[in-house]
Amino acid sequence: MTEPGTMDDAPAVLALADLRQWSERPRVAGPQLAVIGNPVAHSRSPQMHNPALVAAGLGGRYHRLHLRDQDLDEAIPLMRAAGFHGFNVTIPHKTAIHDRVDEMSETARRIGAVNTVLIDGDRLVGHNTDAPGLRQAVREAFSMDLADLRVMIIGAGGGAGRAAAVQCALDRCERLVLVNRTVDKAAELLKELRDRFEDEHRLAGPRDRIVALPWTEKDLERESGEVDLIINATSLGMKASDPEVVPRSLIRPHHLVYDMVYSPPRTRLIAEAEGEGARASNGLGMLLWQGALAFEFWFNREAPVAAMRAGLMA
Ligand code: NAP
Repeated sequence: MTEPGTMDDAPAVLALADLRQWSERPRVAGPQLAVIGNPVAHSRSPQMHNPALVAAGLGGRYHRLHLRDQDLDEAIPLMRAAGFHGFNVTIPHKTAIHDRVDEMSETARRIGAVNTVLIDGDRLVGHNTDAPGLRQAVREAFSMDLADLRVMIIGAGGGAGRAAAVQCALDRCERLVLVNRTVDKAAELLKELRDRFEDEHRLAGPRDRIVALPWTEKDLERESGEVDLIINATSLGMKASDPEVVPRSLIRPHHLVYDMVYSPPRTRLIAEAEGEGARASNGLGMLLWQGALAFEFWFNREAPVAAMRAGLMA
């Protein structure tokens, strides 16, 4: 199978065997990049990074690379030897790569997961652009900064929810409500982030600035009126049969609702939020901005966001 719109005959998804024979493969001159994951065939990242490489005049190619857990030890040195410039990391490797990089950003360290790696000679430098990508997406969708918002994250115990929570904490948002079906994970995260909310310059209000709750209607009801931004970081919403993330009766017109899910583009949560007069956005903006920030991390230059957005929407 060939990737549409490209000049080479690269298979749509590469694997470890392709890295082993890299020097014999035809390829487009310029920086080689990839997203590694398992599964990875569904990744939309090539849709935005290949147009970005063209728009920036860099040449090169962004590949999908299917790697199993047991492939990583061999694959990383092979990518380095092949002259790869960097790579993105998706499920299930974000934690494993975090443990393999030589240095990393404060954001990646706090989250405990890496989604972007720069191969800098012998060194692997890790970053996590999911978290600042969310911040930028919220800014673009609602013209508001996380720092000024009281935020509720549903699914705070998962990888994306944790990234969102760390960004809210780093930005010292007004209030952070961590909700998770398995409440112990939210409580653990609260312990890690509490220091960011002990700010002597802020007046103590009647409510704690950071709380952890189980995902129950009663708990959501108690807290939903006291937040501005509700983020869905669960995997709920991808299937029509999924239960409600937030009961519709709790959504108020003042709420901003950010659904990290982007397929389907109009989830039940978004439709219900808009039906209640709230503003809502899907997760495509987060996908776009994590990609743009990855591009900037790799090339130390402004990302061609318009080309990336057009690629993503195509
Ligand atoms: P993950 O690590 O597997 O976390 C899944 C989260 O959803 C956990 O908090 C889990 O709670 C919760 N959950 C799963 N099924 C549930 C159910 N039936 N009822 C209640 N809670 C449930 O996944 P992830 O990587 O964080 O991804 C989460 C979502 O964010 C996915 O939809 C993903 O596509 C999306 N995402 C979007 C972007 C973007 O760029 N827009 C980036 C990353 C992720 P427990 O802890 O109790 O299991």
